[in-house]
Amino acid sequence: MPIATVNPATGENLETFEPFGRGELELRLARAEAAFRDYRTTTFEYRSQLLRRAADVLDADREQLARTVTTEMGKPLAQASAETAKCARALRWYADHGAALIADELPGEDDVADSGATAAYVRYRPLGVVLAVMPWNFPLWQVVRFAAPALMAGNVGLLKHASNVPRTALALEEVFRRAGAPEGCFQTLLIGSGAVEAVIRDRRVAAVTLTGSEPAGRSVAAVAGDELKKTVLELGGSDPFVVLPSADLDAAVRTAVKARTQNNGQSCIAAKRFIVHADVYPGFTSEFAKAMGALRIGDPMAPDTDIGPLATRQGLADLSALVADALAHDAVAECGGNRPNGPLEQGWYYPPTVLTGITPAMRIHREEAFGPVATVYRVESLDEAVALANDSPFGLSSNVWTTDPAEQERFVRDIEAGSVFFNGMTASHPALPFGGVKRSGYGRELAGHGIREFCNVTTVWLGPT
Ligand code: NAP
Repeated sequence: MPIATVNPATGENLETFEPFGRGELELRLARAEAAFRDYRTTTFEYRSQLLRRAADVLDADREQLARTVTTEMGKPLAQASAETAKCARALRWYADHGAALIADELPGEDDVADSGATAAYVRYRPLGVVLAVMPWNFPLWQVVRFAAPALMAGNVGLLKHASNVPRTALALEEVFRRAGAPEGCFQTLLIGSGAVEAVIRDRRVAAVTLTGSEPAGRSVAAVAGDELKKTVLELGGSDPFVVLPSADLDAAVRTAVKARTQNNGQSCIAAKRFIVHADVYPGFTSEFAKAMGALRIGDPMAPDTDIGPLATRQGLADLSALVADALAHDAVAECGGNRPNGPLEQGWYYPPTVLTGITPAMRIHREEAFGPVATVYRVESLDEAVALANDSPFGLSSNVWTTDPAEQERFVRDIEAGSVFFNGMTASHPALPFGGVKRSGYGRELAGHGIREFCNVTTVWLGPT
């Protein structure tokens, strides 16, 4: 895949970038290693100030950055602007809380004495140069949610961004440079996925984090495993959105539409499988299809657009094939299901689509639909809802609509996912850990769990003097 900015709204190639050769890559790896030697000794206060200045740069450049993102991957401009603001908030959150999250930990006095020590504590020390392999769908946020905790902990970062967002990747490097980060502290590597293995194997790289698809995760984890290097993987998802009879149906429908179509439907934590109790199925399904069908699809730069184009030509082909397979197996399209004609044909647009009559014979029953396509299932009981919610290879997040505490507790106990959101849609927040189980990956980002992923948890034990 060439490293290029191609506008998904028109298919026009705006700029192609030459991937880094061996010399440039070597220079950047050497710079990262040198930067870590000093940066690891900086104080929390120094790092907090750096993150705050990066947040200020994001705020100052918000409009420009949002336009770059929308041009490269097609999300509506207002959403790109909101993403930029969210990044600034996360940087400030880690600036405020990072030091406390990885402060020295003191075991209880009795436990210290029991270990034979006069004193003992745990110190969180940085691991070193961390490689981040990142996707295009939230091209600022995915990177910042890695970079803010990693830099706060004293690591330095190398970014291998998706090949279709090179301008955003370079802009991120520039944000940290303008914030006054030491040279080599945060660098972008313009390389294709084929060059990632050599970077992981390089002795100067200590660990790797990847957000992306299952095949990419498998490949990165295999190489890192071979090198015995730490990994965090945030992979795909096919989150359930369960609606039970006690739900506020209007709110559930409104949220369902947003949860399925935000970011043009290309979000790992988008609700993708709608599992609806028979008592409320007819009302939910008809209102949901009506609202999905009424969304405005078009130019992502226009302020009244709800749904822009998909980010890549391949993504459009994959989604179209998934829906075609379901329809060929007798699924029913309650709305959408066909690409728009007319002026939108030249871009990679796909309309909001609601499918019913889903069976296990259809690929979409097990595979992730990365675009504005929802599947709706009818269930007769709570047990059936839990079983269907868990009948997926993925386990990223989940949404459940019920006001019944016993039903809520049932999901907290039994859902096979990294999070469960009741009466609302899944979203990430700096203070809450984020990540999945099963084929959605392992490890956590954000909160204290995220900042500790790339730390050397060092035990310090002092014997009797
Ligand atoms: P992708 O193809 O896996 O790409 C993600 C990144 O991995 C890109 O930088 C890509 O580089 C690189 N890559 C691809 N194959 C690789 C390999 N064999 N070795 C090393 N690097 C490789 O993912 P995508 O299709 O663009 O993104 C969508 C996927 O990401 C979906 O499954 C979505 O659910 C998932 N996602 C997960 C989360 C989460 O937090 N769990 C968040 C967002 C997205 P190139 O672009 O150069 O190929």
